[in-house]
Amino acid sequence: MKETRKGMLLVVSGPSGAGKGTLVARLLDLDPTFAFSVSVTTRGRRENEIEDVHYHFISEEEYDKLLREDAFLEHACVHGHRYGTLKSEVYERMERGQNVLLDIDPQGARAVMEKEKECVSVFILPPSYHELKVRLHTRNTEKEEEITRRLNNAKGEIEQMGRYRYLVVNDNLELAFEQLMAIVRAEKQNSVRYFPEIEE
Ligand code: 5GP
Repeated sequence: MKETRKGMLLVVSGPSGAGKGTLVARLLDLDPTFAFSVSVTTRGRRENEIEDVHYHFISEEEYDKLLREDAFLEHACVHGHRYGTLKSEVYERMERGQNVLLDIDPQGARAVMEKEKECVSVFILPPSYHELKVRLHTRNTEKEEEITRRLNNAKGEIEQMGRYRYLVVNDNLELAFEQLMAIVRAEKQNSVRYFPEIEE
């Protein structure tokens, strides 16, 4: 049997501290059909981040230039910094049949859902606001002021969960990951992107 597949555009959002980063990293590690869309950002690089792997870290001027060139599939200001998904990270790969994962905020996700109706959108939820706060403090990557800003933004982000096709509550990492993989497995067989050719 011959079969062809169109690439899946998987959009994953969730408030800082929901565990989205861990889930996304594990998916990319275990499923070689997915490529990560590396975003551009004007935020400063954290110590554990690698240029061109986690983000393309760029200046405000470079960001403005990309805006003028219409290089973005979507872009948004998140927690006071600018972020954007480059079309060049997404479309060529999808045309080649590769799945592409976007880890973006709800504003960006909304724009992508409007433009790309067949995208698969997943929102990752924390089990409680208390747990979110604990996780943001224990991961120790943001300063207190930044943590407060992210916690304040979380409520507004969570209110938008109904826009997403799927919801995953990350109370238990193993279970949450299994649920994410179940979504991915099912969506790979969706008839909008899977075309088996049945022979005589
Ligand atoms: P962080 O600064 O912690 O890496 O990311 C902050 C937020 O920005 C996260 O919710 C992340 O998903 C989001 N983000 C990262 N890249 C993009 C992007 O290209 N576009 C949008 N809209 N959000 C992004």
